[in-house]
Amino acid sequence: MEKIDPVFFMERKKVKKITLVPNSFVMITFEEALKISLNQAVTFGIESVSFEEATGRVLAESIKSDMDIPPFNKSAMDGYACRRQDLAHSMQVIEVIRAGIPPVKSISEGTCSQIMTGAIIPDGADTVVKVEDCTGGEADAPIRNKIRFVGEKTGANICYRGEDMKAGEVVLEAGTLLDSRHVPILATVGSVFIKVYRLPSVGVLSTGTELVEPGETPGLSKIRNTNAYQMIAQLGKMGIDCDYYGIAADDEDITRSMISEALENNDILILSGGISMGEFDFVPAVLQSLGIYVAYKQVAIQPGKPTLFGTGQNKFVFGLPGNPISSYFILELLVKPFIYKCMAYDWNPPVLRLRAGERMTRKKSNRLAWMPVRIDQEGLVYQIEYHGSAHIFSLRDADGIIPVPIGKAIIEEGEFVDVRPL
Ligand code: AMP
Ligand code: MG
Repeated sequence: MEKIDPVFFMERKKVKKITLVPNSFVMITFEEALKISLNQAVTFGIESVSFEEATGRVLAESIKSDMDIPPFNKSAMDGYACRRQDLAHSMQVIEVIRAGIPPVKSISEGTCSQIMTGAIIPDGADTVVKVEDCTGGEADAPIRNKIRFVGEKTGANICYRGEDMKAGEVVLEAGTLLDSRHVPILATVGSVFIKVYRLPSVGVLSTGTELVEPGETPGLSKIRNTNAYQMIAQLGKMGIDCDYYGIAADDEDITRSMISEALENNDILILSGGISMGEFDFVPAVLQSLGIYVAYKQVAIQPGKPTLFGTGQNKFVFGLPGNPISSYFILELLVKPFIYKCMAYDWNPPVLRLRAGERMTRKKSNRLAWMPVRIDQEGLVYQIEYHGSAHIFSLRDADGIIPVPIGKAIIEEGEFVDVRPL
């Protein structure tokens, strides 16, 4: 079963003092790969940021409310604040209460105050009747002097002090990944500077002599570098601003010097290409020569078999397959959970459990497969035309991806599938 691995072979010839764990070059399952990487994840300290810049960051403290919310009994309507027991009679309007200006007068029998949404309920009042439900006084006058309730029934239309949150209560737990929904919560409790976990610094590097940058027209035998940019965009969605190091030609010394520079300046390095079985796939050997222990470089996943994870000297390296779909999926499936864990966030990707709208098949079932799918109006799931791991156009129409476990070759029409949105 033990096959001579070209990298192992090269290592023995060129780099003497490297401890090789025999299993590091054996194909492992995706679940094992995920576990190995996640076990290595570390956090990178805590910093204080303004709540305005906190989206995408993970809270390192729990946030408590500094006051009751709402802070006072507040009108939920534009209308008249009065006593419920007076609703059957006409009432004298004694004050106009604006939002932001406290009332001066109390409500007593037969009186009411005109009140605006968000204003303080005056003492003595237990109900606000909507302006639309009232008649009386001089109807055209901007302020009526007398009103009468003509609606059928009314609620109190009062938001009571502390009904949403009491002073001292936790409004956001430590470990929350902050997004736009949390910003108004931080604002309302006055937490303008908050402690969050530092983001790891991430470097991105492409390998391949065949690559040119997207702004260039590829010459014969060349193609445009798409991986680096899709990876930067995927990580950008997580709030990670990557440093891009360019394209390393398939030359051992060039690869070493570019990887070395990127490793020096970053906590995590994400590479694409150069890790499979080709004559010029130097990445694993180069990493090991730089003191990175390669934990695995083959994962039983389709697409994405040539996937590498290594660590050493407080650095972490993911080597993603050169084919763009493979590298897109592996970043989603393996790198993203790792980076989230480095941000102290225990990420559970959302999954939609839906029925297959058609029978789906695959030829081999010795690896866990992930297939791009679309969801129709009825919520049924269909396969997307997919020519293989270089077919980036298949992602354009995909709503998500579904896993097909090892040993399973057929999904029947009507069977439940777990769609992971992209
Ligand atoms: P490799 O993993 O280096 O053997 O590359 C596998 C395939 O992916 C080859 O067809 C490469 O040309 C292609 N490829 C590698 N890197 C990139 C990249 N950055 N952008 C687009 N395609 C790539
Ligand atoms: Mg290559």
